[in-house]
Amino acid sequence: MKISTIRITPIAVPDMPLLNTKGVHGSHFLRSIIEVECDDGSIGLSETYGAIKTLDGLRRAAPQLIGMDPFALNALRARIEAALPDAGGINHKTMLTQHQVVDVVYSAYEIAFLDLIGHATGRPLCDLLGGAVRDTVQFAAYLFFKFAKPSDQFGPDLFGEVMSTESLLNQAETFVERHGFQSIKLKGGVLPPDTEIETMLALRERFPEHPLRIDPMGAWRVPTAQRVCDALQGTLEYLEDPVRGMEAMAELSAMTDIPLSTNLVVVEFEQVLEAFKHDAVQIILSDHHYWRGATGARHLGEMCRAAGMGVSMHSNTHLGISLAAMTHVAAATPTLTFDCDTHYPWTHHDVIQGGKWTFHQGAVAVPTTPGLGVSLDRDALGELHDYYLQQSSTDRNDTQEIKRYIPDYVRQVPRW
Ligand SMILES: [Mg+2]
Repeated sequence: MKISTIRITPIAVPDMPLLNTKGVHGSHFLRSIIEVECDDGSIGLSETYGAIKTLDGLRRAAPQLIGMDPFALNALRARIEAALPDAGGINHKTMLTQHQVVDVVYSAYEIAFLDLIGHATGRPLCDLLGGAVRDTVQFAAYLFFKFAKPSDQFGPDLFGEVMSTESLLNQAETFVERHGFQSIKLKGGVLPPDTEIETMLALRERFPEHPLRIDPMGAWRVPTAQRVCDALQGTLEYLEDPVRGMEAMAELSAMTDIPLSTNLVVVEFEQVLEAFKHDAVQIILSDHHYWRGATGARHLGEMCRAAGMGVSMHSNTHLGISLAAMTHVAAATPTLTFDCDTHYPWTHHDVIQGGKWTFHQGAVAVPTTPGLGVSLDRDALGELHDYYLQQSSTDRNDTQEIKRYIPDYVRQVPRW
């Protein structure tokens, strides 16, 4: 069983104007769909970021993987490091954190390799990670303030404009009714802190049993964050990246009992040690797309156990191949006890056969069929690839995008 062919298909997927502290989502999001084919005809699938640096790294590494045995994950890492020396980070300079090209490219191929191993052994991917410790994986409702979708942007809108506590509550009710979510996360850092405090308190009143989180992505300075913590004491399950940088997180952490979580200041294993040393965060967000794949994400779970930290799961805009991988990883990470983030309900599209995944009581059933448990819908892939070819943008830049709506917008992180 040797790898004979690798196909990387960039796609664009219609998106909605979801707001965050550095801007707004564009008219579409970019993904790469990866097929790793072996000489016996079996195919391993994967999905990852589609912006230019990731795509370039995937393409440059691919020829070095031909002839490999998909069981050789250590060799995979070595070949990718050799193929991409000094490759640097994947993200545009307007992003708030950086992920290393070698980690992201390794992560993407590792999932495809594990999918192949699953098919070869007849076992679901979670079995290759030590086995599922849960039959279903819970996800959280991921709420956003947003603009109404401009009429010149392709694809349907959800909820129209959501720029108030009242309309956000309506969004929450719809997501909870439709998908049965049992926890709620708000992407904050968009409206003034007092409005977002009011929104979280309104969510608490409307959903007294749902664990609540807010993620302002470093939008607040330490005194502001401290004020928010005081106002939301007893309301939050955890507070995600309230302030920017490890030092500020440590300063705030010393002042509040609310657990702090992050997907911005701890994105590499070395940073787990630093965060532990400074008691800067209590919960780390796992994500197999950059934590060195499914095996790395599992290692993160063990490292957090040793450090006495909790584990949750981060999401970027994604489709169903990523959701399958997220579900397997979460199922096989015993310490991942929080409901995972997902952007999945925000898209109407997918590239998997059999239609989109559905959530029951906010959960996805862990697949029991070999590998990831999903197969590719080539027609859907072709359509989204054609849509990609029609776009002029090959990178993500939320700050540029928001100037369509607010021409004099100035990016400022922290803002308050
Ligand atoms: Mg976050």
